Amino acid sequence: MKKNGITISILSLVVFLFFIAGVDSKEQDALDLYLQQKVHNLNTEYLVALNGYQMLADFIFDESIKTPEVLQLMTEANRVSAHKDQTRARLLHHLTPLYQRITALNFRQLHFHFPDSRSFLRFHRPEKHGDSLVGIRDTVVKANTTRQKITAFEEGRILNGFRFVYPLLRGEEHLGSVEISLSFSALERSLNHLFAKNYLLLIDRRTVEEKVFREEQANYEFGPMPDRYVYDREVLQKLMAADCGFDMTVAGKLFASVEKDRKNELDHWRSFAYPASYAGKSFTVAFLPIRNHKQISIAYLVSFEEDDFPAQHKRHYIFTLVLLSLIFAGGLSFTLYLFLTRERLEKLSATDFLTGIWNRSKGSSMVRLEHERAIRYDAPYSIVMLDIDHFKKINDTYGHEAGDMVLKNLADLVGRSIREVDFFCRWGGEEFVIMLPETSLPHSLLFAEKIRALVEQASFPHMDRVTISLGVSQFTSDDSEFESVIKRADLALYEAKSNGRNQVYPLPPQHA
Ligand code: GH3
Ligand code: MG
Ligand code: MG
Repeated sequence: MKKNGITISILSLVVFLFFIAGVDSKEQDALDLYLQQKVHNLNTEYLVALNGYQMLADFIFDESIKTPEVLQLMTEANRVSAHKDQTRARLLHHLTPLYQRITALNFRQLHFHFPDSRSFLRFHRPEKHGDSLVGIRDTVVKANTTRQKITAFEEGRILNGFRFVYPLLRGEEHLGSVEISLSFSALERSLNHLFAKNYLLLIDRRTVEEKVFREEQANYEFGPMPDRYVYDREVLQKLMAADCGFDMTVAGKLFASVEKDRKNELDHWRSFAYPASYAGKSFTVAFLPIRNHKQISIAYLVSFEEDDFPAQHKRHYIFTLVLLSLIFAGGLSFTLYLFLTRERLEKLSATDFLTGIWNRSKGSSMVRLEHERAIRYDAPYSIVMLDIDHFKKINDTYGHEAGDMVLKNLADLVGRSIREVDFFCRWGGEEFVIMLPETSLPHSLLFAEKIRALVEQASFPHMDRVTISLGVSQFTSDDSEFESVIKRADLALYEAKSNGRNQVYPLPPQHA
């Protein structure tokens, strides 16, 4: 009974754990999908903002740079002459109003180059020219080589930013190229304006250390994850000043946990979104790798937004888990209770209250089962019916309670003397039935005689000897019902009584 209860508990627990595993993976999938969507959103935001500047840069180039005047000046600049400085000054003069207007639109650089990628005119530093950009500014070299427009994020000696480089062509003649570039802070401003989130650019530290002029490195700051990244100073300061619940302490803690939990993604420049909570506020931080024109990742664009969904999702998940566990524990307890109660009731209803052995109802069903088995397998069984001799006299002489004790002691004595496979029950009053499976009449007679002698020799407290009479019958294939086998044992018992009691009497089938 206890074993069945344990089996039920273990089975239910296994089923429950599978169920919880299912719930868990479904909840995890939902959160993963949500976070993937955040990365997807960041990518779209980045493309939208960049595309706006791309169109603007195209417009500036088409309307104000690819003009006959500028192309004429670049044609002159390409000629071998002693007037290069004059040409440069004229170009500077001619386009300074444009440069001022585009810097007001957040563009940072306007830079003309020769076809061999030597610098001709930097509007942000006109005095510095003639240096070759080969090996330094690949986008320029590529635009000059392919004579195609190039758009890319690129590290540089001054600026890490987005560059739009256009080849300068006059008919078939290649006059060089021009670069219009944009700092990250410009893109950040635009992103912030469009999508009302905070953005940060984490630039690969080694790239900056290798490429940026030493005197320009002051534009970059170390912040969280200093071994990996540096930050555009302007953007970092702006973010820290913004009233978004996000300060240096929060950033430090957040990035420390990102570095620990998402090391693998960071190592491989993968995109991901990370939910985090600090000081009672929940954020979702999305990381999008930014590649240069060689498709090498050199920066992460990071977006921060206050977002309660992952925390809410977690709370909901824990609540569901607790609720399910409670329902499970309640259900299991109730099932076990019903199961144990039923088992106890079944046992109780099959037991004789006085002697503790099986009662007649259980006896009948056991004999019926054995009878069916005997018919199917042609296996004989025997019935021994025993009855205490002159029990009424015992009651009358010693009292009813002493009679009860005799019944109990007799049940114990017989119970101890039968085999494990034999079945013993109280049939009623002072009458008992023993069923002997796989036993034919001669053997059951020997057994009955053994029991009779045992009782005769046993000492019962406070009384002379107690004797019993026994009737024995054996199943045959003519017995369609088990009752006929019992009835023959009962008749045999009657014969034993008539013959003087304290004896065993067999009744072969023909006497039925
Ligand atoms: P016989 O030798 O012919 O069997 O005579 P007997 O007196 O044993 O048989 P009888 O059927 O005349 O009497 C049986 C008695 O057993 C009558 C009844 O009061 C008593 N008896 C039946 N059940 C119990 C019981 O649970 N406890 C006690 N103490 N007596 C019981
Ligand atoms: Mg009797
Ligand atoms: Mg009797």
